[in-house]
Amino acid sequence: MKLFIPDIAYINPKSLNYNVGKTAKEYLEKLHVPTIDSRKVEINGACPSENYAKAKKTIYLTVNAQKKLRPCKPSADYQFALSSSCPGHCEYCYLQTTQGEKPFMKVFVNIEEILQVIQNHIDKNLPNITTFESGSITDPIALEHLTGNLKRCIEFFGKSQKGRLRVITKYNNVDSFLDIHHHQHTKFRFSINTKYVINNFEHHTASFEERIAASRKIAQAGYPIGFIIAPIMIYDGWKSEYEELLSHLKSQLKDYHEEITFELIQHRFTATAKELILTRFPKTKLDMNEETRQLKWGPYGKFKYVYPKEKSTEIKKYITELIHSNFEKALIEYFT
Ligand code: SF4
Repeated sequence: MKLFIPDIAYINPKSLNYNVGKTAKEYLEKLHVPTIDSRKVEINGACPSENYAKAKKTIYLTVNAQKKLRPCKPSADYQFALSSSCPGHCEYCYLQTTQGEKPFMKVFVNIEEILQVIQNHIDKNLPNITTFESGSITDPIALEHLTGNLKRCIEFFGKSQKGRLRVITKYNNVDSFLDIHHHQHTKFRFSINTKYVINNFEHHTASFEERIAASRKIAQAGYPIGFIIAPIMIYDGWKSEYEELLSHLKSQLKDYHEEITFELIQHRFTATAKELILTRFPKTKLDMNEETRQLKWGPYGKFKYVYPKEKSTEIKKYITELIHSNFEKALIEYFT
């Protein structure tokens, strides 16, 4: 897919103290993106859906001052951010309810300071290995062309004895990662789904074919790889589409003989998310009928609606069988 180009870039003057900030600003100017030096971002849409659409075309080059990283179970020991939000418009996005009415993208430029914070966390945990998730509040590949920060991270972790990086993405611009000496210390996971889910709910992200082609490139470059199949949805024809997904993956990865991990997440929503999704995507086809779901207490202090037990058991069994029948070295890390 085409690289994301924002409509406007706000630039925190502090970010120009860093090489990455200066280079990113020059890059944006070359693309004729209007830039505004400012300590705050202004988005004044006429309604919430306009604010959302505008925010998803707005970036803010700034500095990440976080010194203490948050834990990130079950995916990794800690999470860190090279950016926040992303250009995707996934209707069910789990960030919908956490990033406010105007989820513009912060792009952090102080990469060496971010890496120092990571190093401090690695040092504190010696002699153990410490793992870091880069995609908890963003898609780290969607904005990579603006800074090259993820490439720098992969190089850093490639040299690290005890640090390991985890990347998750719905995007496909992976070419800049193919020649890095990564020493298999970075694991790429691609978020994939059926064509129905991608085409109906994951707007402005890479297509089914593009993601699978990107995963093939990354596999050929020798990285450990995995897939997150999420959100798994039940709809007319879901079984045959998930079967097609797994068999297509198998055919594209036939030369990859290492372990492939799978993380499986069934579709869920909270009452707050439903309200917000209906404001932002009034014509959504997302199934958010509470009557056909069951309530589950979530770790973030909110009830969420998941499929009832017999349905979720059916999903788990069906997808697990599909994975094992297509991949000899598959490891299913969790189903939730
Ligand atoms: S790509 Fe990921 S972070 Fe971006 S909108 Fe979609 S689900 Fe959310």
